[in-house]
Amino acid sequence: MNDILLVEDEEHLARGLKFNLEAEGYRTTVAGDGETALDMLLKQRGDFDLLVLDVMLPGKDGFAVATELRKASNYIPLLMLTARSRPQDVLKGFASGADDYLPKPFDLAILLARIRSLLRRRDWGRTLLNDPPAEARVAEPKDADALREFDVYVFDDKQVDFGTLELRANGKVFRLTLMEAELLRHLIRNSGRIVSRKNILEEVWGLHEDTDTRAIDNFIVRLRRYIEKDPAHPQHLLTVRGVGYRFLAKPEG
Ligand code: CA
Repeated sequence: MNDILLVEDEEHLARGLKFNLEAEGYRTTVAGDGETALDMLLKQRGDFDLLVLDVMLPGKDGFAVATELRKASNYIPLLMLTARSRPQDVLKGFASGADDYLPKPFDLAILLARIRSLLRRRDWGRTLLNDPPAEARVAEPKDADALREFDVYVFDDKQVDFGTLELRANGKVFRLTLMEAELLRHLIRNSGRIVSRKNILEEVWGLHEDTDTRAIDNFIVRLRRYIEKDPAHPQHLLTVRGVGYRFLAKPEG
């Protein structure tokens, strides 16, 4: 049975959600504020499988809770509930470490589908961890066909495992959030081609509204810190001024 930690201060909503989640077979614990949730996850080391985190909370808001969790290397699958679906908030949620978001008010069926999908991704990652890497679909820059679907991508002495979300580069292992991984995967699929910020918003985040697309830059900055030997002079994740980005598996001469 999967354990869900639900962080929501509106008692009515929390009670209703707990009831519905338990009806679906999830053991559900409610925390009424961010501090309590962080205590449960970090200090008591509570054994939860998924976090449903409301953004609007008394004291620490959901963004701050997500940021602290990830800083403490807690990578529990995190579904963020946002009151507004403004693209800026969505991007802020992803930047703080959310794996998915759902704007309020939402349909219960959609919430349950998102929860199932996050748990499936986690299980998939665990399966890959336990299997020998040879069973994963490994792609290298020269395999044009393999670049459409792959679990592991190897380039320039670096390795990204999209099942476990681990990136090995420059002698270190980094843990990616789902969204960092999705962005990187999208750029890798388009290796060598220029990908516009608008395309990234639509294809990776599913956002169609006009928004300040520079918000994507924060993600690129983080990915560069993982991948690039010198993030100030990127060799793999290039900025194409005024347009977007280009991924190169091998630095250009
Ligand atoms: Ca709330």
